[in-house]
Amino acid sequence: MNAEGVIDLRSDTVTEPSVEMRAMMAAAAVGDDVYGEDPSVNALQTTLAERVGMESGLFMPSGTQSNLVALLTHCGRGDEYIVGQQAHTYKYEGGGAAALGGIQPQPLEFAPFGGLDLAQVQAAIKPPDSHFARTRLLCLENTMQGKVLPPAYLAEAAGFAKRQGLKLHLDGARLFNASVASGEEVRTLVSGFDSVSICLSKGLGAPVGSVLLGSASFIEEARRWRKVCGGGLRQAGILAAAGMYALEHNVQRLAQDHQNAAQLAAGLKACGLEVEPVQTNMVFVHCGHHAPVELRDFLARQHIRITAAPRLRLVTHLNIDEADIARIIAAFERFLH
Ligand SMILES: *Cc1c(COP(=O)(O)O)cnc(C)c1O
Repeated sequence: MNAEGVIDLRSDTVTEPSVEMRAMMAAAAVGDDVYGEDPSVNALQTTLAERVGMESGLFMPSGTQSNLVALLTHCGRGDEYIVGQQAHTYKYEGGGAAALGGIQPQPLEFAPFGGLDLAQVQAAIKPPDSHFARTRLLCLENTMQGKVLPPAYLAEAAGFAKRQGLKLHLDGARLFNASVASGEEVRTLVSGFDSVSICLSKGLGAPVGSVLLGSASFIEEARRWRKVCGGGLRQAGILAAAGMYALEHNVQRLAQDHQNAAQLAAGLKACGLEVEPVQTNMVFVHCGHHAPVELRDFLARQHIRITAAPRLRLVTHLNIDEADIARIIAAFERFLH
């Protein structure tokens, strides 16, 4: 639960910075990052770039801006990117690539495992012809609604993109969840990608921030687009320090969130609810004939927050512990009986 005693299952974005994280933020060395002079930002960018095996990183105010800047850097006006119908970059970012970059999306249905079927992607690539937008980029997401893309698929997608002459971007908002769940290093999961965006403000527990990673030349161009988008920050080291703290202390503990999610899923299943298989920190539950709004309001009275939907998304994170999981299951039981 959080400082107010509320168990908030709506998202892992609701995590609050710990006392230790705040102390590291308060003590951070800072400079003007638009001049590239903030030592804490530079340290975070270098650390994460080394960790994922890419040349450079760029601290971003949000994951949305990070993905947008990646798209603006990879694609020009009249270019196209292929993306999942339910992908964050397509569905949950206000159409930014089209609105601000003149970049056309070509959405495709995700396969049940969370990736795009590469034969379908191939069929969607437009031939060079003035009738068509120029297909430039393939965009994947890992984890996708809590699902971990299999490493073999990622390697296949990388080879495919190269053969097709497409750039490959990963929305890795929760890449560390994928890494911890699969036991694969993050560098393995992104090898073959041209760029990746990682959120520090989800399960890693930082209050703000994402990092975009890629080659040195890609990041140099991305720095320009970040400024254009209004994302050039000044003494951002205070925020970067929180990200550094998160990388040092909050990565391995994601396993606990995954375990709590599995326990929550098992408990809700035992209550008779239909629960989808869990891989990381997201539990999807079908309400069936129960009214989602009534459930939400009932749980709210017990200091448990959810978003009402026929298919509930319940997200575990560092402000939810094992005792909270037991409380949640007990509250569902009371509602159902
Ligand atoms: C949260 C999220 C983002 C965007 O991050 P914000 O910091 O909220 O803008 C991008 N992609 C995925 C998959 C996300 O979950």
